[in-house]
Formats: sequence, C-alpha cells, structure tokens
Amino acid sequence: MRFDVFSLFPEVMQEYVQTSILGRARQADLIDVRLHNIRDYAADKHRTTDDVPFGGGGGMVMKPEPIFSALEAVLGEDLNSVRIVLLTPQGRPFKQSVAKDYSKQKRLALICGRYEGVDERVRQHLATDEVSVGDYVLTGGEIPALLVIDATARLLPGVLGDELAATQDTYARGLLEHAHYTRPADFRGWLVPEILRSGDHARIEAWRHEDSLRRTLHRRPDLLRAIELSDEDRVFLEKLNHKGP
Ligand code: SAM
Repeated sequence: MRFDVFSLFPEVMQEYVQTSILGRARQADLIDVRLHNIRDYAADKHRTTDDVPFGGGGGMVMKPEPIFSALEAVLGEDLNSVRIVLLTPQGRPFKQSVAKDYSKQKRLALICGRYEGVDERVRQHLATDEVSVGDYVLTGGEIPALLVIDATARLLPGVLGDELAATQDTYARGLLEHAHYTRPADFRGWLVPEILRSGDHARIEAWRHEDSLRRTLHRRPDLLRAIELSDEDRVFLEKLNHKGP
C-alpha cells in the first residue's frame, strides 16, 4: 500500500516511518511511504505557503494553491480515485474500523495542516475524508498522519510477524485485549497467573477471554453494548457486575 503525506515539515515523520515494524514493512515493499514538502509546490519566489485570514483575526492559514498543486503533481491521474485524508480536529474520529477501511485501499493521501489550519477550499474541493485523532488540538497534522499510517499499515498482510496479532488486538473484536505477561514468572513477588504457566491451551484461552470481558466491563462498558455477546459471556458479566471490580 502506498501512503503519500503532504506537510510543511515532512522531516519530522522520516525517522518514525523508517523504524521497527514500519521500517521493515517498507524494506519488504509491503508499504511505500512518501513524504512530500508542500513548500516545494509553492509557485511564488518566496515559496509562500500561508497567509493571513480573510476577515482578520490571529494566526495564519495554509494557502490552497501549493496544496492543490502538490496533490495534483504527485497523485496525477489517481487524483480522483485516491482517498485524500485531511487531518483536522473537526473530522470524524479515527477508530480501528477506519484503519481497517483504509487498509483495503491501494493508496492513501494525507494532508497535514499547521497554524490555524488549511484554507476551507481544500476541505471542500480536494479532501475526500476528514479525520480527527481525538478531542484535543495539536500544533500540526504530522503526528495524526503517522498515527493513521501506523494503525493502517499493521493491518496489512505480512506487516506484523504474527498474523494473528492484529486480529486479537484491543478493538479488533470489539473488546479490550487481555493482559500480557512475560518472564520472569515472579517479579518482586508479583506472580504471573498460574493458568498462563500451565500449558493448558483451552484453560488459557478461557482465562484470556474472561480477562478481556472483565477489562472491557471495568474500563469501557460502552464497547459491550456494541457487540454480540454469548449467553455464557452475559452470565459471566452479570456475576462481575454483582461483585464489582
Ligand atoms: N484552528 C483549527 C481548529 O480550531 O479546528 C486547529 C488547527 S491546528 C492548531 C493545526 C493543524 O493540526 C490542523 O490543521 C490539523 O491538520 C492538525 N490537528 C490538530 N489537532 C488535530 C486532531 N485532533 N486530529 C487531527 N489533526 C489535528
């Protein structure tokens, strides 16, 4: 899958996409992440990319011409078929389901804003999607873009070593994932649950499923309302509800 990211500060994303799982996925040609500097597409001699807002007020607004030119040049004839994501705190919340949807695309373009954001005409006439990574405001869209790339790329076949890992993750099945432990079995007197050391896979699976249900009930009960539970799960949750955390 190819990602084209458009930013005034592409260099801040470089290290991240070269590191660890994303770096390996790039080397294996599973993903292709291209970082483009919007300033390279500014036509005037000062290479201006922002200007004062019409109507007054503080801050600067990113101009539409360099952004349109950058996407037109890089996407070429794919311009009208590729999903173009504008990162904005006003967008639809980025969730695992959105990452899954994006992971089915061959190519994705991401536009990172800065300052007061981008000229409204970019949103109206260029972007196909508007995505927010949370109800807070950051100084730029680069961290949100990395977040979208990371969450999307790890769903692509071959990117994670263990193919099962992504299907068992928190949110993948609508529940928070169970707790994880590694060696040592006894750390400062805090023991790993005996079942996980038993080698009995059926009991381990049952423990993990119950731990997922328990965690979801205590931390994100809203998620339980959105999924189908088995009768056994309902009985288990009912018992927990009576007992408390
Ligand atoms: N004035 C804008 C507003 O109130 O909606 C905020 C602009 S913000 C300071 C600058 C840029 O950071 C945005 O254009 C966007 O690209 C990015 N950004 C900030 N917070 C974000 C969030 N929660 N999700 C996605 N992008 C965000």
